[in-house]
Amino acid sequence: MAPLYVHPKCKTQMRCKKNEVYVIEVATFGPAAIWSADLWACPTCNERMIAGFGLNPIAEHYEENFAAHLANAKGSDHAYYC
Ligand SMILES: [Zn+2]
Repeated sequence: MAPLYVHPKCKTQMRCKKNEVYVIEVATFGPAAIWSADLWACPTCNERMIAGFGLNPIAEHYEENFAAHLANAKGSDHAYYC
């Protein structure tokens, strides 16, 4: 299997640290969408990145249950913003 992600500075294959982290996409008006993705890390320098997003967000701001999803995401140990 081909390497998925490489950290060029360290010449190392990155490793998946955690599946299903939350990424809260923020627009000018505030949180717009919540995504599930994977957290990757370089085993040499611990540089991190988030990749492997689902095709669709978990929830979008105009959906009825968005506030509940947002509270759940913010309450987790792995909520990131973009
Ligand atoms: Zn590195």
